Amino acid sequence: MLRLQTLDPLSLTGRSSAHVVALEGTSILLHRDVLVPFLALREAARRDGIELVPVSGFRDFARQRLIWNAKCRGERELLDRDGQRLDARALAPGALVEAILGWSALPGASRHHWGTDLDVIDAAALAPGQQPRLVPAEFAPSGVFGPLQAWLSVNLTDFGFFRPYQRDLGGVQPEPWHLSYAAVAMPAMQALSLAVLREALAGADLEQEDEVMRRLPQLYERYVCTVAPVPAAALAATAISRASRPS
Ligand SMILES: [Zn+2]
Repeated sequence: MLRLQTLDPLSLTGRSSAHVVALEGTSILLHRDVLVPFLALREAARRDGIELVPVSGFRDFARQRLIWNAKCRGERELLDRDGQRLDARALAPGALVEAILGWSALPGASRHHWGTDLDVIDAAALAPGQQPRLVPAEFAPSGVFGPLQAWLSVNLTDFGFFRPYQRDLGGVQPEPWHLSYAAVAMPAMQALSLAVLREALAGADLEQEDEVMRRLPQLYERYVCTVAPVPAAALAATAISRASRPS
């Protein structure tokens, strides 16, 4: 029987980093139980000519609030669901909050807080000096990360990972670069209740706080709970690797 990990409310909402450790040689932080599975995934990718590099791992509440507040104030680029630029100052509070949530999580509600989720690229596919942008076009069949996309589709679940935002389910925009380690992320999702999120946001110095708090149940449902289901194969892979690990 697979033993699922649980995170406490502070870790779940990015207000503690006690659960994460550094990926050697990088500034990327991951949940301590995700490090070994990620290294196995990276090694398998390397054997197939892919240099799997995380560009984002654990992100704390303060960092997510910085992103959120900057978008609310129009200090950071804001896009609609079609990728067209929006003027934050011209939007009503409801429309502004919805526009931000298509691309950026509410502080306290980012899966990056858990350390189980990370954004990856194939560094071997980039031309010298080329910077990844993390846009869906890069992951289209003809895009620079088309081969990475194909490789992940075949191999990801064998290592216990899945992609919660692979398709547009009406909440967060498709993010084919965003990986999640199922065995730890699934119980984290269950533990991140509306009450836990509400407690993290109360008095947190958030722009648009009134609008967010008033509509929190709907926003929670649409942008936190609406993700791809965890593939059974991803959990099965974890159970097998743990069972075969000497203790
Ligand atoms: Zn991400």
